[in-house]
Amino acid sequence: MKFYRSVILSLQTVVAFSALGGSAFSLVWLEERQAAESLPAQRLWNEATPLVVVDAGHGGHDGGAVANGVIEKNMSLDIASRVKRELEAAGVRVVMTRSGDSFLSLDERAALAGRHEADAFVSVHLNTDGEGSDAEGVETYFAESQTLSARQFMPAASVQGRGVEGSAEFASTVQRLVCGATQAADRGIKARDYAVVARAACPAVLVECGFITSASESVRLKQEGYRDKVADGIARGVVLFLQSHAIRAS
Ligand SMILES: [Zn+2]
Repeated sequence: MKFYRSVILSLQTVVAFSALGGSAFSLVWLEERQAAESLPAQRLWNEATPLVVVDAGHGGHDGGAVANGVIEKNMSLDIASRVKRELEAAGVRVVMTRSGDSFLSLDERAALAGRHEADAFVSVHLNTDGEGSDAEGVETYFAESQTLSARQFMPAASVQGRGVEGSAEFASTVQRLVCGATQAADRGIKARDYAVVARAACPAVLVECGFITSASESVRLKQEGYRDKVADGIARGVVLFLQSHAIRAS
């Protein structure tokens, strides 16, 4: 919960966000890692508290990738649970697709966004490359075909009003803050029509939090403190995205 403790105001950033007519104080709080004063969660949300679906990739008979002693389904759940705690500390309501080692189809995961009228959906995964590969770093995916898919999959949802077209911006915000929090290699955002994000009826991203096939990155990922940083970056990205949307909509 480190980043919810305090904030050092950067005058420049305050001025920039004030010019947008936004909640400069809370946005600066989200951007700054070093903090000196706590901000209560309710200051972040003027009206309805947002709801975010957090998806831990894989589960049950689907273990996901396995490398360097890491089983993807276990680590994705660990990071997703940390994201949940961070988001709740910021006053965000969270629905987890799974909270234990259970299997859900990709459609069942995506459908939760529609069922709960979620404001955002974030799926947590670990990446792999060939054995012995030194590929490492973080990348975030969004689905270009999301609007179309969400329309087909969520007949009742007014997809237009839900802002699924914001997913690319959502991806870049999350990517930036996860890389900022972890100092991991920034592999950028990528458009790919993964079903779990393409079928969610709200802005949706899939974060590949690092390569378990990398000898060095897998060591970092096994450290609780590092997974906290990953989760911290994801939660920060989610809240910053929701905040900037709320400001534009008001
Ligand atoms: Zn995966």
